[in-house]
Amino acid sequence: MSIASNLTEIRSTIPDHVKLIAVSKFHPCEAILEAYNAGQRIFGESRQQEVEQKQNLLPSDIQWHFIGHLQTNKVKAILPYTHTIHSVDSWKLISEIEKNAAKIGKTINCLLEIHIADEESKLGFDFDECEKMLDQNNWQSLKYARIAGVMGMATYTDDEKKVREEFKALRSFFDCLKQDYFKDFDYFSEISMGMSHDYRIAIEEGSTMVRIGTSIFGEREY
Ligand SMILES: *Cc1c(COP(=O)(O)O)cnc(C)c1O
Repeated sequence: MSIASNLTEIRSTIPDHVKLIAVSKFHPCEAILEAYNAGQRIFGESRQQEVEQKQNLLPSDIQWHFIGHLQTNKVKAILPYTHTIHSVDSWKLISEIEKNAAKIGKTINCLLEIHIADEESKLGFDFDECEKMLDQNNWQSLKYARIAGVMGMATYTDDEKKVREEFKALRSFFDCLKQDYFKDFDYFSEISMGMSHDYRIAIEEGSTMVRIGTSIFGEREY
């Protein structure tokens, strides 16, 4: 199967209101161009150096989404070419994004990464921790780092019921945040959930953005 035909097949399963992030990490520019030529414009990357090199070589109308763990010292570098950061997991990181985005006068969409899986290794805020941050910190004064929604990764398992429960939990947490904090903020609207193996379930549970790599580009070679 070619990248173009994989994309066609995946698109046929995604409703219009759900954005497809083509996760191109560890895949070469040629693969990204193939997807680009098949009409794909949003790509997800997880490492600063890698996306830095790629965006230099690739068409400038690509919308880059950063989906990996982001260290504060990498923020400045990625902002000029980044549209959305899916992996915002601390107030320190939001402040750093705000500071650097202000310097270049650019608004950056930030998604709060929420820990919904069983696995220890998955990063992100716990529900409580996230609400505590929103209670304590003056996020209303942010001008450039725009909190646009939430992101989460389900446990990696074949247990569909479990995955569905985790996505449900993220969806209802989003609804709570919307109600309690972001009612008057139209831009708080995104639920980034669903990867190659579980995006169909995620869409059924209310995802607005799916992050799909393997099903488009094939297995990654690390
Ligand atoms: C790598 C990655 C994906 C894509 O995973 P696939 O299983 O290849 O679709 C999605 N989200 C995040 C956060 C990732 O790191």
